[in-house]
Amino acid sequence: MTEQPTRDRKLLGRLLGPAGPELSCDQCFEELDRYVELELAGADTDAAIPGMRAHLQGCSACAEDHESLRALLVEQGR
Ligand SMILES: [Zn+2]
Repeated sequence: MTEQPTRDRKLLGRLLGPAGPELSCDQCFEELDRYVELELAGADTDAAIPGMRAHLQGCSACAEDHESLRALLVEQGR
């Protein structure tokens, strides 16, 4: 058997962790408004809300929320 158990890879990823602290979906949702405002203002979002970008890259549900909120704010800003 040369099959690689994905379970081990997941465990390894959990032990090593992401590059920064990762947020849960709840935390992500709570910070989303602020994150998008900072992003549109050109601020350093990674420093302001560590782990947010990593979560958005790994979580399609939150990434969709982020996209639609940003689109909304961009429209309102005009
Ligand atoms: Zn999420």
